[in-house]
Amino acid sequence: MVALASFGPAARAQDVDPSPPQLASNPHADRRIADEIRAVSADHIQQTIEKLVSFGNRSTISAQDEASIKTGKGIGAAREWIKAELERYSKECGGCLEVKTDTFTEQPTERIPKPTVITNVYAVLKGSDPKQADRIVLVTGHYDSRNSDNANVIDPAPRANDDGSGTAVSLECARVLSKASSRLKFPATIIFLTVAGEEQGLNGSKHFAQMAKQQGWKIEAVLNNDIVGGNLGPDQDSSVVRVFSEGLPAASNEAEIRRIRMLGGESDSTSRELARYIADVGRSYDAGVKPHLIFRLDRFLRGGDHYAFNQQGFAAVRFTEFREDYNHQHQNVRTENGIEYGDLPKFVNFDYVARVARLNAATLASLASAPAPPANVKMLTKNLENDTTLTWEAAPGAAYEVVWRSTSAPDWEYVQPVTTGARATVKVSKDNVVFGVRTVDAAGHRSLPVVPEPER
Ligand SMILES: [Zn+2]
Repeated sequence: MVALASFGPAARAQDVDPSPPQLASNPHADRRIADEIRAVSADHIQQTIEKLVSFGNRSTISAQDEASIKTGKGIGAAREWIKAELERYSKECGGCLEVKTDTFTEQPTERIPKPTVITNVYAVLKGSDPKQADRIVLVTGHYDSRNSDNANVIDPAPRANDDGSGTAVSLECARVLSKASSRLKFPATIIFLTVAGEEQGLNGSKHFAQMAKQQGWKIEAVLNNDIVGGNLGPDQDSSVVRVFSEGLPAASNEAEIRRIRMLGGESDSTSRELARYIADVGRSYDAGVKPHLIFRLDRFLRGGDHYAFNQQGFAAVRFTEFREDYNHQHQNVRTENGIEYGDLPKFVNFDYVARVARLNAATLASLASAPAPPANVKMLTKNLENDTTLTWEAAPGAAYEVVWRSTSAPDWEYVQPVTTGARATVKVSKDNVVFGVRTVDAAGHRSLPVVPEPER
């Protein structure tokens, strides 16, 4: 880390406030958001997970006919319950949520033996500002399950942790933030999503992300929660949750990869900026769990729904507990040599899931409260000079901050407020640091930062 003093008063510049840069790690919570996220309930999360487990086997290829829905077994019953649950939250907030489904028929694949209807269930909390309601932040988890045998759709596949926990996070965020929306106005839209088909190849999230891309949805952030149960196994660290983010964007074409290589932009995908934003939220709010950023798409041998969104060019990250217990994942429920296998509710730490839900809710509320990120952010590179000038499009009434970090630092180190105009010159060389510009409103909500494009 470069010492702050080395920038010191020398960082004053003609277009920025005549104040020294501040540490980017300074917390800045909105007290009202901090109050609202306290409503996240470990008891309610436990009820949600136990209910999901009660459907027996939630495999995407399990039953979804009327009879199975009536008996409360199979993925169809799980889907109908999630829908009813979201509708119940909506009733409690005066119809503030629009509950929807995204249904399609998947053709046979390796793990889908015959044409199968897949349904994603989601609720939309529409932004309160008509000018900003097209901006979307989204939280997701997968409600489908399976046991050791993909073809076995009858025997239990409880999947309390994978991914009852992530489904519960999405639902709990819906419950708490829909309630909060009567007191807090969220100018941007929040979507609470639960998908199916994850275990068959991310089928549900792929369909949803493609639909969003085709329809031009402006999704700024996707928070995928998958295995956030805080498994009560040995060596668990329940004070942290891992946040995985891609480096080189999956959606980049050859020209974009070339540009990233030239700029040294390998650690500045929009997903990585989202991960840093979550780190900032973790410092600002007392969620009870700290994000532990992993600069990698996912764990080895594993994938998740965030990748389906990355492939369509959206910023998306994955939350996963610190240490996974493989005896309780993808295992049939059984006891062998005195070891209990299976993904059962008794191995889930419901308090931990609640803390992860609080971190998610604080992130969603911060992003949905914030103004839009600055547009058309440029860094002037036509002259050989040691100062750096950044420009962007001014939005009416908006204030901005320039953030930067040493090229070898993982997270933003310094922040310089810019209260007037849409241009700043900072006495720091663009050769030595990475810059970003973010929008700030009067209440202190920050947008995601935008890394400038060089302009000659
Ligand atoms: Zn999973």
